[in-house]
Amino acid sequence: MRLLLVEDNRTLGELLATGLTKQGFAVDWRETLEEAAEARSLVPYDAILLDLGLPDGDGLELVRQVRRERDPTPILVLTARGELGDRVAGLDLGADDYLVKPFDVAELAARCRALLRRPGACLGVILESGNVALDTASRTVTVSGAPVATPPREVALIEQLLRRAGQVVPRSSLEDHLYAMDAEVTPNALEVAVSRLRKRLTTAGADLTLRTVHGVGYALVASKGPGIAHA
Ligand code: CA
Repeated sequence: MRLLLVEDNRTLGELLATGLTKQGFAVDWRETLEEAAEARSLVPYDAILLDLGLPDGDGLELVRQVRRERDPTPILVLTARGELGDRVAGLDLGADDYLVKPFDVAELAARCRALLRRPGACLGVILESGNVALDTASRTVTVSGAPVATPPREVALIEQLLRRAGQVVPRSSLEDHLYAMDAEVTPNALEVAVSRLRKRLTTAGADLTLRTVHGVGYALVASKGPGIAHA
């Protein structure tokens, strides 16, 4: 799940970007309306988290712009206490929810998941292949119905693989989802996550295998099946 965070307060922006990343979201953090517009033109986001008081204008301008484009991306407004008028205006213009500062990251993450669960949001609730399933709302992985404790980074990985089960998912695409656009990515971080997830699935008795397709990427395929479809 990739989020666009628009917040010009450095301390808060950094806190939220780090906290949400730990919760398994990929976060692109921008500080102005102009930077936010540029980011939106490059990447499709699952949700936008928006501060209202920005250096180059009112965050509500962005809400207006997004809805003018008939873009249904959920928008969560982050507002200071006492900006009740703004809050109401934001919801009127097409924001989906708001949070009053200060709030904690866990609460923000829960609200984001709630937004992504709404009908019309781009995410389904259960992704399933073979005996492996992921509940995208609770972020729970199960094998034959039994929960498998899985850290957020591996949950983000299996989500992308399950969305394209049976196909090769390019490593660049997995890296995009695992990390924010400007976060440091160590060269072998993806391999480490893949290898841990593979072990976890095997130990839990999954009937899927996480295959490495050298030079291309990774694929979740049926352990006894036709193998990989090259899409
Ligand atoms: Ca601000």
